Amino acid sequence: MITNASEALFARATELIPGGVNSPVRAFRGVGGTPRFMERGAGSRVWDADGNAYIDYIQSWGPLVMGHAHPKVVEAIATQAALGTSFGTPTKAENTLAELVIDMVPSIEMIRFVNSGTEATMSALRLARAVTGREKILKFSGCYHGHADMLLVAAGSGVATLGLPDSPGVTASTAAATLTVEYNDIDAVLAVFAEHGSEIAAVIVEPIAANMGFVLPTNGFLHKLQDICRANGAMFILDEVMTGFRASLGGAQEAMGLDPDITCLGKVIGGGLPVGAYAGKRDIMLNVAPAGKMYQAGTLSGNPLAMAAGLATLSLLREDGVFARIAAQTEKLANGINAVCTAAGVPVQTASMGTMFGCYFLKSADGVIDSYAAAREHANPAYFGEVFHGMLERGVYLAPSQFEAGFVSAAHSDDDIETTLSALDDTIS
Ligand SMILES: *Cc1c(COP(=O)(O)O)cnc(C)c1O
Repeated sequence: MITNASEALFARATELIPGGVNSPVRAFRGVGGTPRFMERGAGSRVWDADGNAYIDYIQSWGPLVMGHAHPKVVEAIATQAALGTSFGTPTKAENTLAELVIDMVPSIEMIRFVNSGTEATMSALRLARAVTGREKILKFSGCYHGHADMLLVAAGSGVATLGLPDSPGVTASTAAATLTVEYNDIDAVLAVFAEHGSEIAAVIVEPIAANMGFVLPTNGFLHKLQDICRANGAMFILDEVMTGFRASLGGAQEAMGLDPDITCLGKVIGGGLPVGAYAGKRDIMLNVAPAGKMYQAGTLSGNPLAMAAGLATLSLLREDGVFARIAAQTEKLANGINAVCTAAGVPVQTASMGTMFGCYFLKSADGVIDSYAAAREHANPAYFGEVFHGMLERGVYLAPSQFEAGFVSAAHSDDDIETTLSALDDTIS
């Protein structure tokens, strides 16, 4: 595979943009090699600057659930672009998308649109602090909620009572208000609440931990978490930026029967344009300015171009049988990966839910990954790097890190799945 054009572009990009990318994981640091510069996408495929084609399981990291450049999404964007891209006034499309989301996601009664998942989570936490008058938040190790200072915090070992900054530039005082424990560790949650219960404004959690690979909740973890929040007067915030409209049509909360106070959305909700949202119960959302006193604003928030892309995408996804078909393809892929690896004697842990999947290559067959600590212990990133490049050479584009989820779109055909599985067979045997 010739990649001269991508290599030249990346060399130039590193002179212009830190690390050559505008979001770190794009740089292939987890797997080595040069990132591909994409030029074009259609359906399940993308083409790079050298003209190589790939079956794409990133789909812009989740948003493109209908595939690249779906004609109806393109048409919606083009129609709106000709009418104007942004007014900085309310528009009818904001009502329409709000109605659609409220209809689809069970716990949501009111919504505020922002421009990214990061804005959604940071605003949701400000709201939780405003409503409760408390300062501390609890998050889980390995869960990613965007790059706001208070969320770039790693756990100490065991039950952390003092958050430590994960990045230079995050102050110790900001980090100190963020408590962190391992995902799926309800005893650690109880211990933190026993000590700090009256100070905790909110617990924020990914319903599927899909930024450390793909870790499902175990033993009723999320329901217990919801109960603990209710018992202690803390807000239960479900970060569905990734799982929204993917774990099921109504998000993980619908699939799992959860009732969060606040939900964060992003990715699919914008259909490939920058949209995020925080949303929830009416009495909580009415605290947001100008209805209430908690301030939050955005020059381009709810802009008509982004609303058009989100509306077109969600409308298509909701058509009869569309979601179920993507979910079936996803399951077929995850099961197929498992079968191919098992036949080759390669230890893996695969899982899928709705239209998302994950696959850990393990150091040994007895490793079980149910938390970030376990992911670090049992995953085999060096082997994943080999698999990743083997697949890339064969025209299959996986996320360039084992600690990322994979995404299937409505455009992924039986043929795509078969091609992917035979590429995997070829790569590992
Ligand atoms: C992607 C993601 C975010 C951040 O969204 P951005 O739009 O990249 O700012 C937050 N939470 C979760 C769970 C995500 O997957």
